[in-house]
Amino acid sequence: MRCCDCEFRSLCDETETVLTAFVSCDKRNMLLAANTVVSNNGRTFACGDLSILTRAIKHFGREAQERMMFEEMSELQKAICKLSRGKGSIDDIAQEIADVEIMLEQMKILYQCEESAALWKHEKLERLRSLLNKGRDE
Ligand SMILES: [Mg+2]
Repeated sequence: MRCCDCEFRSLCDETETVLTAFVSCDKRNMLLAANTVVSNNGRTFACGDLSILTRAIKHFGREAQERMMFEEMSELQKAICKLSRGKGSIDDIAQEIADVEIMLEQMKILYQCEESAALWKHEKLERLRSLLNKGRDE
């Protein structure tokens, strides 16, 4: 395994090293041993979750996970439509929301845009807050 292949790559400041032998990385060992919540540029998640998500990406591959993202979004749309027709349940929607969130986390890892997505989310929420407050004043 090369240094850049580690599941904690997005957390690491180390530059890619060209090693072909198995690498014993102190930072990786520490993260694995801690099995606790770590921060990645203001974003927090459990190490176990990150490991599962990166394993899924490596196991199924980028294209499969991108297609799965579309499939899960479609299932959420379907669950919402069904409930509006009196079928299904709120729990069905909750399950599909969880599926979409899991795929969104994988997309952030795949595109290495966790920090950028967090900044955009903050900015868009502020825009929405401003819009809603403006409507309240009028
Ligand atoms: Mg689903």
